[in-house]
Amino acid sequence: SVPLSFFGGIGGASKAGVLIKGSNYIETLANVETLVFDKTGTLTKGVFEVQKVETIINQGDFLRYVASAEQSSSHPIAQSIVNYVDQPLSPVSQLTEIAGYGISVIIEGHQFLVGNEKLLAKENISFQVVDEIGTIVYVTMGGKYIGHLVIADELKNNVAEALNEVKKLGVKRTVMLTGDNRGIADAIGNKIGIDQVYSELLPEDKVIHLEDELKRQQKTAFVGDGMNDAPVLARADIGIAMGGLGSDAAIEAADVVIMDDQPEKIPVAIRIARKTMKIVK
Ligand code: ADP
Ligand code: MG
Repeated sequence: SVPLSFFGGIGGASKAGVLIKGSNYIETLANVETLVFDKTGTLTKGVFEVQKVETIINQGDFLRYVASAEQSSSHPIAQSIVNYVDQPLSPVSQLTEIAGYGISVIIEGHQFLVGNEKLLAKENISFQVVDEIGTIVYVTMGGKYIGHLVIADELKNNVAEALNEVKKLGVKRTVMLTGDNRGIADAIGNKIGIDQVYSELLPEDKVIHLEDELKRQQKTAFVGDGMNDAPVLARADIGIAMGGLGSDAAIEAADVVIMDDQPEKIPVAIRIARKTMKIVK
């Protein structure tokens, strides 16, 4: 039978805005050694803003094409582009979302690709790599580069403090796994003081890092928002989802849900789990 104090621990956590899905997760949470984070929507707000637009075609046409292409994508990057463009959109067909890369779509008979560096490389399209801090969204039309947007996201509040706290609690290692480019990933990693940063990963690369490396070395928690990371959440020793912004798939796959999306709730959850274990023993 489950000791009553476990229910006390679950209750205490839920008052703090942390939903623990079962008493068995309390012990894992109390003993976690490696904390792995997704970036977008987890450490950052996932609310992007277009900072800059560069194009070799008419700017009005360019923005209309890109926003039309992105109108049915649920990725936070796509939403920021649609919000930025203030003009009627064009109908699209053959929309394909390529997880970890971007999208492909037909507009007015032309094929457009909208996504990261890897997407263009994969399609053998030549382009100049843009060296700016931010997420760079490249756009091609009929297999040729026609422009790019620089998009930026903000860190959530108190992320550095939360990481500092978990270290004080004895967590041995903090890691970021992200699909975003190396420049932005390293800049954020340095700013918040994370131990290791792995960038430009496909969703399946995140699973490989977790299973073949991190999990083999230490008891590992993965914290994600579920945009493409539900498989990693499900495979971690303990999966922690951001519940507010997060997708239903993430909340389903996770063992623990942070209701208000704040990373500072992670040390709170670990502390409650430790206290509960002390009472149980
Ligand atoms: P993460 O949450 O770690 O940033 P994702 O797998 O959600 O990773 O996305 C990885 C990258 O793929 C994004 O940073 C972006 O460059 C590109 N991408 C994905 N979807 C889109 C989209 N709809 N439009 C433009 N770029 C996209
Ligand atoms: Mg994400």
